[in-house]
Amino acid sequence: MTKIIDGKSIADRIYEELKEEVIAIKDKPGLAVVLVGDDPASIVYVRNKERACKRLGLNYRLLKFPQSIGREDLLSSIRALNEDETINGIIVQMPLPEHLDAFDIVSNIDPLKDVDGLHPDNLGRLLSGKPRIIPCTPLGVVELLKRENIDVKGKNAVIVGRSNLVGKPLFHLLLSLDATVTICHSKTSDLKEETSRADILVCAVGAPKLITVDMVKEGAIVIDVGINRVDDKLVGDVDFEEVKNVARAITPVPGGVGPMTVAMLMKNVITAYRLQKGNYEHN
Ligand code: NDP
Repeated sequence: MTKIIDGKSIADRIYEELKEEVIAIKDKPGLAVVLVGDDPASIVYVRNKERACKRLGLNYRLLKFPQSIGREDLLSSIRALNEDETINGIIVQMPLPEHLDAFDIVSNIDPLKDVDGLHPDNLGRLLSGKPRIIPCTPLGVVELLKRENIDVKGKNAVIVGRSNLVGKPLFHLLLSLDATVTICHSKTSDLKEETSRADILVCAVGAPKLITVDMVKEGAIVIDVGINRVDDKLVGDVDFEEVKNVARAITPVPGGVGPMTVAMLMKNVITAYRLQKGNYEHN
């Protein structure tokens, strides 16, 4: 029987655990979200982050800027947040308008407050096997696998998508867990050949039904990171209805990786708080 991995209820359990941690902390950790422009999807994501902070009793601050804001003005707000002791985590909501370079902006966040884990310091630490703050979605994928008792050691893990946000950090996380990892992208010559070998298949592309049933090995674990809007409904990258007939376990969209991403952001805010207070043990 195929297991439909219920990311929402796993995330709910994580919130309960985090709530205990927050209660044990004297002051309230705080998250600041920087939103530039009014992209509708970004507004939804930002609202989810606010809701999660409220749920845990974390401080939340939203800084909204017009699409036209210049680099220097944006950076001076980020520097002020870097100095603000009531703020422990800073997120710049992506995408940014074209005149702003995401790498440049994120590089100006204090790496100890970079709760998206995208500062070059944090990505470099992950690559070096000494992670500090890990990007939320890949961290959520690995947490899902752990909580479902899926051992990745020695398994063939295939990731489709090589972004800095998802694919590349996930590559390093799975590698550190002793999986044999392959990463595919838009120039991969035979995607089906690669995915068919996967014991664990993760798709993070943003293309509905990119992964069809003939591309999935019988008994594979399928993790669908993709979020696509089709006929006003959210779907992933995997042809869920067909692939669920061959997979051993599969995440749905919505209700799979998405809730885990927000839960891991909350975990990162608490990690960042601890790092700033100097009471965090690296693992
Ligand atoms: P990007 O657009 O940054 O990256 C997409 C990747 O997919 C690229 O590496 C690209 O290859 C690859 N790709 C595109 N077309 C194909 C193809 N036909 N075959 C194989 N690979 C292909 O996206 P993100 O990583 O930011 O996000 C990916 C998806 O995950 C999106 O749907 C996004 O909405 C979703 N997402 C979901 C989250 C969640 O919490 N569930 C969180 C973050 C993202 P190349 O590098 O060659 O261009």
